[in-house]
Amino acid sequence: MKLELKNLRHSYDVEVLHRLNFVLDNHKSIAIIGVSGSGKSTLIRLMSGLEKPTSGNIYINDIPVSNQDYRDHVGFVFQTHNLFPHLTLKRNITLILEKTRGKTKEEAERIACKYLELLHLSDQVNKLPKNVSGGQAQRAAIARALSIDPKIIYLDEPTASLDPILTHEVLTAVEELKGLGKEFIFVTHVLSFVRDFADYVVFMHEGNIHEHGTIEILDNPKTIELKEFMEKVR
Ligand code: ADP
Ligand code: MG
Repeated sequence: MKLELKNLRHSYDVEVLHRLNFVLDNHKSIAIIGVSGSGKSTLIRLMSGLEKPTSGNIYINDIPVSNQDYRDHVGFVFQTHNLFPHLTLKRNITLILEKTRGKTKEEAERIACKYLELLHLSDQVNKLPKNVSGGQAQRAAIARALSIDPKIIYLDEPTASLDPILTHEVLTAVEELKGLGKEFIFVTHVLSFVRDFADYVVFMHEGNIHEHGTIEILDNPKTIELKEFMEKVR
């Protein structure tokens, strides 16, 4: 994908992204790393179109992210699964397909089952989120994000609430999606996953893109801040 940030600023009570200008082309899997509070979530929420920037513009493949067609074709996976608690894993997916994508009941069912199977959840489809493990619920959230056939999938620390075993399980499932031809932009603190899955790394520090490059920057950081970050998360 081609990604372009132009004079991008975002403020809540104070400014948290400081006039970002950035162009990236020909990468399919982009990791965003940095300490807590550095602006990673804000940046991917803006890129996905979930939130509007205070000022400036974002273009993905030369299309502004305010474009409705773009926003209809992104998937987003949050830190916690955000599934409807009173609906089964399958119904969590079919409901969206029927209500927002105009799919028939049968089509929705077929698509939901296809993605739940891809995430190794065929035997869990009729369970409520509270009756499956955190890793299974998060995988169902990934299946739901995929079910709308997005071009780009955003993941914001999808394993933040999971223990190491479940983290491994979820990230392995994400790695298996490589063959689907989707593009990924994700935030994670799991550097082994960044090394395996990302083809580009963006390091955020205090609301700026402080350093970026192919994964080699993890072993050869140019800035003291990335060097310190690498020492902390290792
Ligand atoms: P990260 O994902 O890297 O931890 P965030 O993008 O969540 O960083 O946050 C960047 C800064 O913006 C932090 O100082 C955070 O406290 C602040 N922030 C994030 N979301 C909000 C919000 N909804 N309201 C006010 N401040 C926020
Ligand atoms: Mg965050």
